[in-house]
Amino acid sequence: MEEKIITISGSITVDELAKSLNLPVTTLIGELFKNGIVATINQHIDHETATIIVEELGLTHVKIEKKSRDQKPSSKKRELSDHATSRPPIVAVMGHVDHGKTTLLDTLLSKKTAAGEAGGITQHISAYQVEHAKRLITFLDTPGHEAFAALRQHSAVLTDIVIIVVAADDGVKPQTVEAIKFAESANAKIIVAINKIDKPAADIPRTMASLVEHGLNPEEWNGDTIVVPVSGKTGENLEKLLDMVLLAADIEDLRADNDVPAEGLVIESHMEIGKGSVVKLLVEQGILKVGDFIVAGRTYGKVRTMLDFRGKPKGKATPSTPVTITGFKELPKFGDHFDQASDEKTARKLAAQAAIDLEKEAASTNVTSSDLLKLISQKHDSATFNVIIKADVIGSLTSVIDSLKMIDTKGEVALSVVGSGIGNISENDIHLAAGTPTIIYGFNVDLPPAIKRLAARDRIEVKMFEVIYELLDDAKSSMEDLLAPEVTETETGELVVRGVFRTVREEIIAGGEMLKGKVTQGTLARIVRKKEPIAEVEVSSVQREKIETKEAVEGEMCGLSLKTQKKVTIEVGDHLIFFNREIKRKKL
Ligand code: GDP
Repeated sequence: MEEKIITISGSITVDELAKSLNLPVTTLIGELFKNGIVATINQHIDHETATIIVEELGLTHVKIEKKSRDQKPSSKKRELSDHATSRPPIVAVMGHVDHGKTTLLDTLLSKKTAAGEAGGITQHISAYQVEHAKRLITFLDTPGHEAFAALRQHSAVLTDIVIIVVAADDGVKPQTVEAIKFAESANAKIIVAINKIDKPAADIPRTMASLVEHGLNPEEWNGDTIVVPVSGKTGENLEKLLDMVLLAADIEDLRADNDVPAEGLVIESHMEIGKGSVVKLLVEQGILKVGDFIVAGRTYGKVRTMLDFRGKPKGKATPSTPVTITGFKELPKFGDHFDQASDEKTARKLAAQAAIDLEKEAASTNVTSSDLLKLISQKHDSATFNVIIKADVIGSLTSVIDSLKMIDTKGEVALSVVGSGIGNISENDIHLAAGTPTIIYGFNVDLPPAIKRLAARDRIEVKMFEVIYELLDDAKSSMEDLLAPEVTETETGELVVRGVFRTVREEIIAGGEMLKGKVTQGTLARIVRKKEPIAEVEVSSVQREKIETKEAVEGEMCGLSLKTQKKVTIEVGDHLIFFNREIKRKKL
């Protein structure tokens, strides 16, 4: 089969992908469901998800390619004035676990940092600044790579340069690949630090070869990737690494305006007793000062206190500077963009408007999966019913065709008369029907035995009738087969999760309190976190006081064993909405 390439820049909607694949959107939604993704027809899925789905569907001839964003990230995209000045590069350090990311950063910062880690928060980024050759470099770090990926979802890309740390005794590993992909998708310049070169087992050429396998060709080998062998432990070559960072920054000509209203990104936020909201910001443009009014997402505030990354008070923050501030009325979210506002009234107004916009957006995209399935079953258009009609006389032929055309399919099935004629079913009819699913109807004609055998061999359906209504009923029923099934869901109860006891590959054992209705074995449940449906699971058993039982009802505590799909998690505080789903054949 001819290879088909689908290029995705950023993301693609489920509907668009289905169209590109020539598949009913229901098939695609079904496959996403199987993979634990509750998707709406207008939902955007990323390049990776699309690739997985295409693989799962066995479409080996389809290749999903990512279109690199020529567009520069938000802050850099904005028009800079003539007098924009050079700003410190923003560098993310990424790599496989245990390859020495933390050690490298610690050594770079000479362990002088007292960056209070926000315990338990996975979506946060720590930020530091280092002075080298009398210039500043801003470093970003996060425990997992999820935080960077999450920022991408907010279409925020804040990294100019990504240092990929690869251990010289281990080579490229899955998270290294993830880091390479991230850097490429973020249009960031890649610098590879081959780490742990002090170890006897270090093998620089082999590590370089594993980099080449992943598309990174070291400059030393006439490629264009800067590779610096270092030791985070002994500090060897770290000066050179920083030189390379500054060199890359110069090539990129990173600049920002100082005399515009401050703006940037929220890279961490949490509440602290006595302080209220404590928010870490990365300033991208302008200068943020204590006393400024700012808006982020649906919240606003006045910068009350500002600390630098070491926790020392700071009066103002220039571009590329990370600061921790207090003063937001409510907590902005990680990844929110912030803007300075001229006064409190404007800030309040902007935040209120953002809240309205966000709600509207939520209302238009957060269709429940049941709404969506209904929507999709209606949307399943373009089904075509192909027929070939043979009749004894021209009069009956016209009336069969006319009556078929009058079957009201509410626009859901298109009738296509592939062929028609007077006389017995012929070899030619069979040939005509081959290839696309087509039914041959004979009305008051014969099906010669030889042709019958031919039809059987080619698996062509030939149906013979003498009564027109019977023929029409059969056609109607065949058309119904082409309709996407109607999906109805009935909610039966709700539970709030109080404990998660075990999570194995495809089973989660959790317990909680029934808030309403009942739960029985075999029921489906939708996991709802912070009012957002996140996945669907199946209740494989219900226990009350550790004894398996048929059902649990409102007010009772119960344990549930849940059958899940890949990557589904349940957290304390999640709600489970139980429901039964019926799939009915749609009738015309
Ligand atoms: P991370 O998971 O990438 O942050 O890795 P860590 O910085 O925690 O390092 C993992 C382990 O490798 C630790 O035991 C470090 O002491 C060790 N390590 C890190 N860098 C080096 C290095 O340059 N040389 C040697 N010999 N060990 C290192």
